[in-house]
Amino acid sequence: MPTSVAAYAAQDASSPLVPLTITRRDPGPTDVQIDILYCGVCHSDLHTARNEWGMTVFPVVPGHEILGRVTAVGTAVTKFTVGDTAAVGCLVDSCRECASCKAGLEQYCDVGGFVFTYGAPDAHLPGQMTHGGYSTSVTVTEDFVLRVASSLDPAAAAPLLCAGITTYSPLRQWGAGPGKKVGIVGLGGLGHMGVKFAHAMGAETVLFTTSAGKVADGLRLGASAVVISKDAAAMQQHAGSFDLIINTVSVSHDLDAFTNLLKRDGTMVLVGAPAEPHPSPNVMNLIFRRRAIAGSLIGGLPETQEMLDFCAEHNITCDIELIKMQDINDAYERMLKSDVKYRFVIDMNSLR
Ligand code: NAP
Ligand code: ZN
Ligand code: ZN
Repeated sequence: MPTSVAAYAAQDASSPLVPLTITRRDPGPTDVQIDILYCGVCHSDLHTARNEWGMTVFPVVPGHEILGRVTAVGTAVTKFTVGDTAAVGCLVDSCRECASCKAGLEQYCDVGGFVFTYGAPDAHLPGQMTHGGYSTSVTVTEDFVLRVASSLDPAAAAPLLCAGITTYSPLRQWGAGPGKKVGIVGLGGLGHMGVKFAHAMGAETVLFTTSAGKVADGLRLGASAVVISKDAAAMQQHAGSFDLIINTVSVSHDLDAFTNLLKRDGTMVLVGAPAEPHPSPNVMNLIFRRRAIAGSLIGGLPETQEMLDFCAEHNITCDIELIKMQDINDAYERMLKSDVKYRFVIDMNSLR
């Protein structure tokens, strides 16, 4: 018998999110049932709720930065017991058999078999889509449940499950570390974690922001310099000097201003996923220094656990503003104004 659970959902692309009762499956042999304590608010939730990527199936319950307490486990579960702290990110399953899944890169599943935490057909509840963390409980197969050290504040750890891994993964993939100069574009949920991680990995870290009011925070979070990206002269001072730039901006913008800053063989990795395409980049900018523009999608399960362990070791969490579930629509408006320091996290007790 599936159980009824309180949630918040978008019913269409233009209305505010409203309460909705959803069903969750009873835990099967390999499942972990989790009472959700905190859920981060990602800009992808907003893109999805407003159908900005044109793929949303309504109603949708967003939320993929989930942290909670285990309330039940299936008979075959070995890694979790009732009472454990547990976390769930953007994925709740994948094909598990293709080369990418076997390599622990489930987000790049070769056959498109990844199951997103919300908005994907739910194989366990036919006819229903998966529903995310804007709800009081979730049931997930144990291989897609992660461990978070008890030393980390649980509310501030929740956004690690997307904002954290989405910046950690490209920093690792492109070798951020001592001797490397790394730029982070945009100081939002992803960007502030990018600054913390690049700094913790030992790279010289520079923040690019459009918000003059974020300069002091950029320095506090670990940047050795903060550049206002609208200031062409300030940008020019960094021309041709970066090994790696992680671009987290959520809207379409001129990429040339940043590719100009890359060294020979430098790479700018786009993680921001705007609704509108970026203007086509200047090809000469790329050709003449063998520069690259790349993309990166969240991270696989093993790397997500590695990132959480790195956070425990370095005592890294997110800078958050704790809100009630009922405040979600105001939070979306503030996120659109780049007015969040630096991640909203929903206290899910507000829905109980
Ligand atoms: P966010 O908290 O809203 O941060 C986005 C930042 O972009 C803002 O804080 C702002 O930084 C900057 N920005 C906003 N409007 C801008 C403009 N008009 N011009 C220049 N910069 C602007 O969003 P987020 O949750 O970090 O997500 C960022 C993007 O990444 C979204 O598109 C999201 O969907 C995407 N995402 C991708 C993945 C992936 O796997 N690739 C995973 C999660 C999220 P400043 O104020 O510092 O300029
Ligand atoms: Zn996200
Ligand atoms: Zn696969």
